[in-house]
Amino acid sequence: MSTLDLIDVTKTYSIVTAIEPLSLKIGDGELVCLLGPSGSGKSTLLRIIGGFETPTSGKVLIDGVDVAFDPPEKRPTAMVFQSHALWQHMTVFENIAFGLKLRGFSKQEISRKVEAGLALVGLQDYAKRRPSQLSGGQRQRVAIARCVVLEPKILLMDEPFASLDQHLRDRLREEVRQIQKTLGITTVFVTHGQDEALSVADRIVVMSMGRIEQVGTPGDIYATPATPFVASFIGDMNMIDVTVANGGIDIGGITLPVTLPDGPATLAVRPEDIVLGSGNMTSEAAVLRIVNYGSFIKITAALNGVQWKVQAPKTASITEGAALPMSISRYQIFRDDRIAYRSDEA
Ligand code: ADP
Repeated sequence: MSTLDLIDVTKTYSIVTAIEPLSLKIGDGELVCLLGPSGSGKSTLLRIIGGFETPTSGKVLIDGVDVAFDPPEKRPTAMVFQSHALWQHMTVFENIAFGLKLRGFSKQEISRKVEAGLALVGLQDYAKRRPSQLSGGQRQRVAIARCVVLEPKILLMDEPFASLDQHLRDRLREEVRQIQKTLGITTVFVTHGQDEALSVADRIVVMSMGRIEQVGTPGDIYATPATPFVASFIGDMNMIDVTVANGGIDIGGITLPVTLPDGPATLAVRPEDIVLGSGNMTSEAAVLRIVNYGSFIKITAALNGVQWKVQAPKTASITEGAALPMSISRYQIFRDDRIAYRSDEA
């Protein structure tokens, strides 16, 4: 059982507020991604959990014990950093063994644990190499093994694959997910890449300006964003200023029912929720540009003086320059920085 409970945590650096008061519970064996743009407070929060920063106020409970002011080595946590920070003068084996030695394990135990760690990351044959003789991906695997052999209650990862190319990043991400599930280790993973978060996380914590915007499963975050920030940050979204009047909004001949008081609002529509080629003939959109992604196409279309991002199956017979009726199958309305209406929950 390893749970993490952040209670009213804040962090202020002189005049900069890095973390506004926030609380978050992470369950045993969960992999949670902290996701947000640069400067949103992700690393600060991770460093507070790992003991590399102290919070200005609040509690950091691991299995119910407050560790907020314990140094990193006194905590049941281990952190994989963005740059692998391996000791260059030591072999792979020695790098992984180092923390175990400090903890006073016997030679035999160290050997057994290091071998198991190497096997876990698929580097059994690399024990005698030095970090300089490894690829970037292999070095990061060593960094992961070095943490995992310590059997921390909470594994922390700070953009661990940021320096690797896309292909390798995708592979290592899957491997980490596999290792994490095999060991059942509670993990907090920082990333600014939404694909990374959507593909590995059990739950995503979306952060902006030191605040938590939303916590949810990847599916929830994508389908039911709670704020305009989440709606526009995760996936493609058409965000259009509109006016609600008499129970609806009108955009270039398309009328969408909305049960909200009259007034300004923001309409949010996913590109895949727009259909070109069916709908009211009074709502003709001009197809400006088509980009072929192989399994689907992305279209830029103009309607009512607004450019819309549309996604369609590759089989759609749509050509640049065409004028096609447009319809919207699913939409959400934001007002006062919060979700105010969803068409499929009406
Ligand atoms: P992220 O990891 O999301 O990019 P950070 O946690 O690094 O964001 O930073 C959050 C905010 O705190 C930023 O405004 C950043 O400039 C500020 N900050 C982070 N570390 C320090 C520091 N040591 N001193 C002053 N300000 C800092």
